Amino acid sequence: MSILATIKDHSGRIYRGIQTLLVSSIAATAIATFGPAENAAALALSVAATGLALLVLMYMRSSVVQRLQSAADAEAEKHRFLSVDAMTGAMTRRYFLEALSDSLGTLRNRRQASLLLIDLDHFKQLNDTFGHQFGDLALAYLVKEAERIFADGIIGRLGGDEFGVIVPHGDAAALNKDVRRLLDAMRAGKRHEGKVVPLSISLGVALAPLHASNPTELMLLADLALYESKAAGRGRVTVFDEEMLSDKRYRRLVERELRAAVYLGELELHYQPIVGAEGPIDALEGLIRWRHPVRGLISPAEFIPIAERSTLIDMIGEWVFKRACADIGQFPGRRISINVSGEQLKRDEIVTMCDRVLRETGRSASEFIIEITETVATAATPEILRRLEALRGLGFDIALDDFGTGHCGFNYLKTLPIDCVKIDRSYIRSLAHDQVAQIFVSALAQIARIQDITIVAEGVETSEEFTLARAAGCSRFQGYFFGKPAPRDKTSALCAADNQPLALSA
Ligand code: C2E
Ligand code: CA
Ligand code: CA
Repeated sequence: MSILATIKDHSGRIYRGIQTLLVSSIAATAIATFGPAENAAALALSVAATGLALLVLMYMRSSVVQRLQSAADAEAEKHRFLSVDAMTGAMTRRYFLEALSDSLGTLRNRRQASLLLIDLDHFKQLNDTFGHQFGDLALAYLVKEAERIFADGIIGRLGGDEFGVIVPHGDAAALNKDVRRLLDAMRAGKRHEGKVVPLSISLGVALAPLHASNPTELMLLADLALYESKAAGRGRVTVFDEEMLSDKRYRRLVERELRAAVYLGELELHYQPIVGAEGPIDALEGLIRWRHPVRGLISPAEFIPIAERSTLIDMIGEWVFKRACADIGQFPGRRISINVSGEQLKRDEIVTMCDRVLRETGRSASEFIIEITETVATAATPEILRRLEALRGLGFDIALDDFGTGHCGFNYLKTLPIDCVKIDRSYIRSLAHDQVAQIFVSALAQIARIQDITIVAEGVETSEEFTLARAAGCSRFQGYFFGKPAPRDKTSALCAADNQPLALSA
């Protein structure tokens, strides 16, 4: 029970107790006053009632004090639970950020402070090699050492293996000395089964108010410095420098935010219908969106290229496929086409991930189409071709996306392991007035028919474009004319209204 509820509960009881006391005293006094002169019984009753009421009142007082004490203890325990990380004893992220804000002072009264961000290097490998228990001990050891060296600092746990320290001064020389001591203490290592395991940390430092005086900005700058430490080979400290504020700043910020977005459930998979020549929907293309809490709905064109610079694209690719597997039941009789980045195809993970997710979800690969871009296909190494064959071997159909934008000649249709070609919308737009586009699409459609490949016209926006694409030999159509990408439930209703599903075939 909260302190407030305890007080309310007890004040009701006190009120009733005082009421009883008053009624008893008034009754006894009345009897003593108006009763027979020698009413010893009334006098005794008056004394007894008053005494009893006093006792009740005393009991209540001690009970209230006791209850308030235990409620306050419970509240303190709850606060401790929320503010302290149980494993390491460091402050939790939320409370650390509040403490950082307090440490920087107000606009009129800026205080000097330094923010250190610390990452335990190779944490995953530590866990894999020595076990999770040792990993946990290593984190707790880092916090203990940081507490010892930065005795007047505040230590917080910001993520799995990332910590922050707020030091209440901006003395760079003193800070440098203390950071070296921490690096040395970690290097000296932690004992594990009779052996000493040396530990390594990377640090990033930003100073307030020299570099920034607002907590969000200071965190970002310290994070950039930490990134530099890691990029330079880890096990070192970097103090923020203006030079770091190049376009890397934005990329790194988006990368971090995007990683968090996967966990925070900010990603959405929207679906756009792909229809047959007579109009029924026979497949849906899954298109990712990022619903950012501040910036609103962000297009994949903005964040996929950033994700592609790291293995973050693998994480997003897995999220997309899992989402599609979970959603496909909402589109009975239709397949889902998903976009796979060329970067994902550079690693075997794409094949193992797809296989694993299919087994986990009980879905079949034949319910999905994998779209790869034309540029990937033209630059395909033997490894990439092997992965495409492996995906096809699992039962996926492969579609060649944005055909016509790169250097993919018709001969690729013979050599590449593909089942479908999606003609880029620039050709569909030109069909009405450009003879070259007409000849290109017609020739492609003829070759595709021989090769048993489905041709999809992309970006069909008008009934005229639909008619021309159909006349040129395309068999599937996608574009705003048939429907824009929309959230799952809206698309599911569209599929239900469109009651004649066809199997996707050439
Ligand atoms: P894309 O695969 O070529 O997807 C088609 C894009 O064209 C989509 O843009 C779609 O909204 C847009 N579009 C569809 N019909 C029309 C039309 O009639 N007119 C016009 N003007 N545009 C149309 P979106 O959703 O912004 O996606 C952009 C690109 O981002 C995609 O191009 C794809 O390359 C990439 N992408 C989207 N989702 C994913 C994903 O889950 N994974 C990966 N790796 N890439 C994705
Ligand atoms: Ca696509
Ligand atoms: Ca496309």
